[in-house]
Amino acid sequence: MDTSLPIDVRCFHMKMLNQPVLWRKSDLCVIVYFKEDKKKKLPPSLLVGGFHTRLNKNIIFLSMAIRTILEFPDPVLRQQAQAITVFDEGLMELVKDMTETMYDAPGIGLAAPQIGESIQLIVVDVAKIEKEQKVLAMINPRLIGYEGTQVDEEGCLSVIELTANVKRYKKVTVSYQNLSGDPRELTAEDRFAVVLQHEIDHLHGILFLDHLSALKRTLYKKKVQKMLAEKKK
Ligand SMILES: [Zn+2]
Repeated sequence: MDTSLPIDVRCFHMKMLNQPVLWRKSDLCVIVYFKEDKKKKLPPSLLVGGFHTRLNKNIIFLSMAIRTILEFPDPVLRQQAQAITVFDEGLMELVKDMTETMYDAPGIGLAAPQIGESIQLIVVDVAKIEKEQKVLAMINPRLIGYEGTQVDEEGCLSVIELTANVKRYKKVTVSYQNLSGDPRELTAEDRFAVVLQHEIDHLHGILFLDHLSALKRTLYKKKVQKMLAEKKK
């Protein structure tokens, strides 16, 4: 194992983590964060089940990756994402990476195209609704019902240095598949409905700035061009 790879190592006792009961609360957990796809270079023995393994009976090793979030005007953000048809370990692992990346940012929702995976997958933080840290992974999500309107301030991890009021539906119903591929439906209101609409937009190459006036969009594009030009200097 190349020890120069990890960018961050944190140790916790399992009781500090909201992890499934698969592990004893007294277990020591070592979480090693890797940049992007570096964890693919780890020996398979450390990635049993694609995610974790026990180094000995008391220590659990988790390898997770904080992926780079693409920023406007990256062309991947404008693509129509592909439907997901395979529900395997790889998908599960991607959800873990997206969850870590979202909390690291920090954000309350993340769509796969934002980390360069042009597939129909979003993760949303439902902590406020469920009253605990919990992430919902929605595969092939589709808006199947909506009513009313609301205006709320939005920002986006891929659209840096911009927040603006956006008009959205007040209440939405979304059909999706869970990690096992089972069909599910969910109805959300207010802020949670905004997050769902924002993330589903990403799967169709739409960014929240597309909902703004042409003037605001132009001003932002000019600002980004200026920032990119300054970066090159
Ligand atoms: Zn976004």
